[in-house]
Amino acid sequence: MFKEIKVKSVLNKLKTQDDWFLVKYTVNPFIGCAFNCIYCYIHGSKYGGEDTSTLQIKTNAPAILYRQLKNRARKREYGFVGLGSSTDPYPPIEKDLKITRELLKIIYRFKFPVNVTSKSSLFLRDIDLLRKIDQKAILPENLKNKLKHGVIVSFSFSTVDPYLAGIFEPGASTVEERLETMKKFKQEGFLVGANLMPLLPFLSDSEEDLDKMIGKMKEYGAEFVLVGGLTLFGDKPVDCKVRYYNALEEHFPDLIRPTKELFGNSFAPSRTYQHKLAGLSRKIASKHNIRTSILKE
Ligand code: SF4
Repeated sequence: MFKEIKVKSVLNKLKTQDDWFLVKYTVNPFIGCAFNCIYCYIHGSKYGGEDTSTLQIKTNAPAILYRQLKNRARKREYGFVGLGSSTDPYPPIEKDLKITRELLKIIYRFKFPVNVTSKSSLFLRDIDLLRKIDQKAILPENLKNKLKHGVIVSFSFSTVDPYLAGIFEPGASTVEERLETMKKFKQEGFLVGANLMPLLPFLSDSEEDLDKMIGKMKEYGAEFVLVGGLTLFGDKPVDCKVRYYNALEEHFPDLIRPTKELFGNSFAPSRTYQHKLAGLSRKIASKHNIRTSILKE
């Protein structure tokens, strides 16, 4: 089920370039996300919009983006556009809808670089356009000497265990499909990486889990991994905190208590946990000879 809406603006400009994803702008063709991952932070946080229970398609997004990017290009305010920061740009409906494809055409038209993040193998459909953007995009001054690509291809994983993925991200392409798609992009010469986020406490965040995940990412062509922990927001039935604990109750009831202890009253795990996760990911990434940042250090 989906709803069609019209928006006044589709290009969101960040105050400063994001350190992790290098994006200066974000564009989301949808409100809500068809993949409906249990842990998805857009449900219950300020990032998803007020109603994320139904997929809403911004039908006039291409026309609005055309006007807004044209304006930015005229002022030469180039910067990476993050496509899919609070929705996946390649839900099944995109196959016929082609709204993401239209947005990419406009991004190409005005020579903006783009960082596309997805959990879908449909991403591969647009490789022709992405190749053209990769070659022609104008990078912002601060990245010109650091990056040779106008496209960053990012795939997201919270686990590489198919059983866990089936529980927590049932609408996304399977882990195997995502890995294979990532490999194809790499073989075609793209800068490819993996967002390993959110790692699921006690399920996909141990040293052994990370070793397996990062090893797999390397094997399938990722040049970098960005690792992040889980966040839990909201108290409504559609909110990720409620849905996450419901899923634990159904599949891993023993993990409810330690998870609650880890989060305390916060939406994020303790600082100690986060430091440990960051240190562990750096250590394991270095073992697999893979970066923990998009840029080379
Ligand atoms: S694919 Fe991303 S945006 Fe979509 S539901 Fe899953 S976590 Fe949320």
